[in-house]
Amino acid sequence: MATAVKATNVTWHEGTVTRGERERLLNQKGVTVWMTGLSASGKSTIACILEQMLLHRKKHAYRLDGDNIRHGLNKNLGFSAEDRAENIRRIGEVAKLFTDAGVIAITSFISPYRKDRDAVRANLKPGEFIEIYVKVSLETAEQRDPKGLYKKARAGQLKGFTGIDDPYEAPEKPEIVIDTEEASAEAAAQQILDYLEKGGYLKA
Ligand code: ADP
Repeated sequence: MATAVKATNVTWHEGTVTRGERERLLNQKGVTVWMTGLSASGKSTIACILEQMLLHRKKHAYRLDGDNIRHGLNKNLGFSAEDRAENIRRIGEVAKLFTDAGVIAITSFISPYRKDRDAVRANLKPGEFIEIYVKVSLETAEQRDPKGLYKKARAGQLKGFTGIDDPYEAPEKPEIVIDTEEASAEAAAQQILDYLEKGGYLKA
């Protein structure tokens, strides 16, 4: 599989600018804010609002979004379990680079498998991975269906769709749970912002 190590004779080159120096420059701490949940749960909507709220506070955040990444970096990947795993592994590596750069990386991917999310967490330092379970019932997600994907999946035109004929494994110990049937998208973004504030991420 693509994760096999192919390159040899490659050594890690340490830079002279430190992580702390980058964070002081930006007056914030690098972190990965990882949203997981069913399609149409609201991950992208909440991520966009959160990014804007952070920008207003002069915090440097950057969104990595499912559909956008699949147009570029991961355009050679499909939706088999193996490709989904590789999709998440690559996104995890990119989020790690942003985190190291001192940026608040906000990812919005279904990321249905617990093992794949846990691997991303394990690849970051403690406190650098904030898992957010964007919770919604399948019924509500199907009613929202902003891209018509559930309709297609129900009609058998889309195979292996999460929640219909592919599993979604909810996080067991997420840092934050957002019930989008209770909270508005704005309230959800505010909940995450409050967590970042209290956790000291919004200062160097
Ligand atoms: P995802 O990125 O999880 O696939 P999207 O953000 O693309 O989901 O779509 C979620 C849809 O649900 C949007 O049309 C959004 O306006 C709607 N929605 C309704 N209520 C909420 C809520 N409380 N939080 C987030 N999105 C909501």
